[in-house]
Amino acid sequence: MTLDEILKEIKKAETIVILTHESPDGDAIGSSLAVKLMLNKIGKNADVIIPEYSRLFNFLPETNQIKDSSNVQNYDLAISVDCATLKRLAKSEYFENAKKTIVIDHHSSNEMYGDLNFVNPVSPACCEILAGMFSYYEFDITKEIGNCIMTGIITDTGGFQYRGINPETFEFTAELIRKGVDTCDIYKRTLRTKTKGNFELTRRVLDRMELLENGKVTFTYINSEDEKEVGAEPGDHEGLVEMGRDIEGVEVSIFVRQKEEQDAYKISLRSGKYVNVSDICLLFGGGGHPRAAGALIQGNLEQVKEKILKEVVKVLK
Ligand code: 5GP
Ligand code: MN
Repeated sequence: MTLDEILKEIKKAETIVILTHESPDGDAIGSSLAVKLMLNKIGKNADVIIPEYSRLFNFLPETNQIKDSSNVQNYDLAISVDCATLKRLAKSEYFENAKKTIVIDHHSSNEMYGDLNFVNPVSPACCEILAGMFSYYEFDITKEIGNCIMTGIITDTGGFQYRGINPETFEFTAELIRKGVDTCDIYKRTLRTKTKGNFELTRRVLDRMELLENGKVTFTYINSEDEKEVGAEPGDHEGLVEMGRDIEGVEVSIFVRQKEEQDAYKISLRSGKYVNVSDICLLFGGGGHPRAAGALIQGNLEQVKEKILKEVVKVLK
């Protein structure tokens, strides 16, 4: 059983590093910290390395322990959480140089790049997988760990609104509320709080939003210039893609964000009912979930727009 092997490797390791995907969201950060706190509880030290994340998550426990790099070159064990591919893993060199590697994730496009892989694509959040793992190991989930887990569940389900939520989602939630986890506070902090930068980007994104294909598709963008002008901070682009999908009749929302240094745009797709946006992103070397996915596409704005629209339109027909 993979879960038993994972615990065996954790117990054997003296130096452990926890890594997650670039532009980490609440599930990525919540998963990383939940694993760290649980390892600490069973007497293991672990480094969490996350080079950049939104300060909105600083309310979580142990964020002051998050490192952006480490002196240790060859960890005994590297654990990747919430990340489908090695390419997308931030600071992946620590994973590649580790003696043993474990991948814990919920993306169907996961490439099983660890020595041990525990991937459950029907789970709505990586944090929900962790809650299941901890209960299998009979580890007590403290309020602190619960705060991290709840953050992942709330952010990745958009506050329990997306497909993928299931009876266990609510069973874990109920259990965590009993432990004293304040779901209302987490909801407010993660889903209802806009930074100034995010607000300013929202204005621009809405102003530029085009309705295409008889109102079934929206397209909008931000350039590096916009981010500079509004003084955007890490994570300020989060959630901008959601706005297109909320418009009546829209099936696919496309949001692209310039990555100037790579001569490319990072695309984010969301779909309403039937388009599998993960399949579309896979065509461009990206991935994600059926209703939320992303990829990096080379080119200028016009070129990227044309490339992505072409594939979206094909699927719509
Ligand atoms: P977002 O649009 O919020 O950046 O990402 C939506 C979903 O797609 C997330 O689950 C995210 O992990 C995944 N995703 C975004 N960009 C990429 C990418 O370039 N490669 C892969 N494999 N997944 C991505
Ligand atoms: Mn996730």
